[in-house]
Amino acid sequence: MNVATHASLQAITEALAHLADPEIPVISLRELGILRDVREGADGVPEVVITPTYSGCPAMGQIEDDIRAALNAAGLPGRVITQLSPAWTTDWMSGAAREKLRAYGIAPPQCGSQSDTPAGVLKFSRYAVRHTAVPCPQCGSPNTTQTSPFGSTACKALYRCLDCLEPFDYFKPY
Ligand SMILES: [Zn+2]
Repeated sequence: MNVATHASLQAITEALAHLADPEIPVISLRELGILRDVREGADGVPEVVITPTYSGCPAMGQIEDDIRAALNAAGLPGRVITQLSPAWTTDWMSGAAREKLRAYGIAPPQCGSQSDTPAGVLKFSRYAVRHTAVPCPQCGSPNTTQTSPFGSTACKALYRCLDCLEPFDYFKPY
């Protein structure tokens, strides 16, 4: 890779550093794990690689447009590549992103690595997932109940806290 290309990849990375998810403005695309890579394409044109949070997510078109707009505004070359494999998983979400999500009022995904479910229970994962306690992002109470499998968007479920009575979105794990 020549020096000029390396400099433009750096500039692209910086130009996109603060781009946020259209649905969750407090979290950057990089923190969410959607922005996978900024690299030199085979023809020398810089490529921005993104992976959708789940197939058919309606926000992806908006995210591509936002990236192109940011590149144009900075006068930088580049194209957006959507890479479907490996599939995005909520495990790619950073710890800082989970905390920002909670502070924003959305319960972060309860992922396998964070679960305190005993290992022997995992074979009943379908049952376990349905009955995972989702702590209330407002008061921290585990005394919550799912009111709808779909929240404000398809990737979230609607919950209600039985202690402070606040409804909240739960970002479902994938
Ligand atoms: Zn609560």
